[in-house]
Amino acid sequence: MNNTLQTTSSPAENIVERLFNELPLSPDLLAILQQLEYRTMTPIQAASLPITLAGHDLIAQAKTGSGKTAAFALTLLTNLNPRRFAVQAMVLCPTRELADQVTQELRRLARFADNIKILTLCGGSTMRPQVSSLTHGAHIVVGTPGRIMDHLQRSSLNLEALNTLVFDEADRMLDMGFYDDIAFVVKRCPSKRQTLLFSATYPNGIAGLARQFLRNPQEVKLLAQHEENKIRQRFYEIDHDTRLQAVGQLLKHYRPISTLAFCNTKQQCRDLLEVLQAQGINALTLNGDLEQRERDQVLIQFANRSCSVLVATDVAARGLDITQLEAVINVDVTPDPEIYIHRIGRTGRADDNGWALSLCSLSEMPRVVAITSIMDSEPEWHDLATLQSDDNTPLAPPMVTLQILGGRKEKIRPGDVLGALTGEIGYTREQVGKITVTDQSTYVAVARSIAREAARRLSAGKVKGKTVKVRTL
Ligand code: ADP
Ligand code: MG
Repeated sequence: MNNTLQTTSSPAENIVERLFNELPLSPDLLAILQQLEYRTMTPIQAASLPITLAGHDLIAQAKTGSGKTAAFALTLLTNLNPRRFAVQAMVLCPTRELADQVTQELRRLARFADNIKILTLCGGSTMRPQVSSLTHGAHIVVGTPGRIMDHLQRSSLNLEALNTLVFDEADRMLDMGFYDDIAFVVKRCPSKRQTLLFSATYPNGIAGLARQFLRNPQEVKLLAQHEENKIRQRFYEIDHDTRLQAVGQLLKHYRPISTLAFCNTKQQCRDLLEVLQAQGINALTLNGDLEQRERDQVLIQFANRSCSVLVATDVAARGLDITQLEAVINVDVTPDPEIYIHRIGRTGRADDNGWALSLCSLSEMPRVVAITSIMDSEPEWHDLATLQSDDNTPLAPPMVTLQILGGRKEKIRPGDVLGALTGEIGYTREQVGKITVTDQSTYVAVARSIAREAARRLSAGKVKGKTVKVRTL
């Protein structure tokens, strides 16, 4: 990341490289950070931690993937007394997926002390096990405002000992209409507490939320520009009626393994999905009509590289943490340059380069001008007609997802599945990809070339000493 477009009211301007051990963190936490190979702070961490560790309330804005979770996790863990068995910190998130991601990161960092209990409280799961876990005591709860409100109404959650309250993805919680639920929940929190608000964008509602629930907050905004050489941006002029076909042309020419295709509307997402599937491209979409389990399956298949293209609106794609993404396609040009910067920042992560390809009709030209002027760059125009694909083999993802019926409830762990495939069956570690265990199912990515046989042999063999049902997604 090079120059920031805009930083305000933070002592963190011109951060080059800052080490965690400059912070007043406990030696045990520093040791965990070292184990996790978190060497230097990300810019949002460097800007916000000195403020929050000094006990101040905070409003922080930074793009997806910038390390906001660890920024609040280190604060709430520092405020926590592991020997006190009461809920001392609460993180409110817009969706179960995001709550799960936060819980995972918190669990990794919470290993600095023994027995810190973290509970996820979201809708879509039955109340009873959550209630019984709560009676056994938890130090930290992470959840959606609606479900946390339910627990407060039933008195199964007691917040008297709370010292840290976090709003994660606050903009999205507002988008989803959670304001009233949030207000209900916050009224039940002790007034003496530290409150942190994290958001990827800064719509008007955020200021209202902050005014209501934060006390003299300090603000940190990092609207970061991406390293130019890592994300190669190209613009293509199209006619309105060839837009969707053009996406297929781009995919066949650039042949990215994973692509996130952004549309401005849900209808556009549905239309594009149809066009791509008709062209034999392995594409999926995320939308509000999916059941939770279907959503999980889409995300799992995209993250484990068994789906080439994920078609989504900005809202649906918020919070996705996908590290390997070869391309982002802007099917429509977004009217908001800040959103454009967020979109393309999904690619070109870590050491990889990424493509940011945008389709633009004549009427959208002013939007491109707005984008490139805020980025202080000249748009690079290319002609669709020059795209050719010498390689006419169909664009197929490298992996295939197998679903094993049986998951956390059956006490299946990733190692059990990896063991079954690489042990008795004899595949190599390289032929097996990501393994994801959910409550009811386990999903394992395997190399496309072995998929059929792997499914057959897993069904015929045993996982954890039991025969299992396997199907290919
Ligand atoms: P955000 O909430 O801003 O979208 P996350 O908190 O999900 O971002 O972090 C994105 C990724 O970066 C995660 O995989 C996390 O483990 C990793 N990460 C966070 N902080 C650091 C750090 N200081 N060094 C290396 N990796 C980090
Ligand atoms: Mg986050």
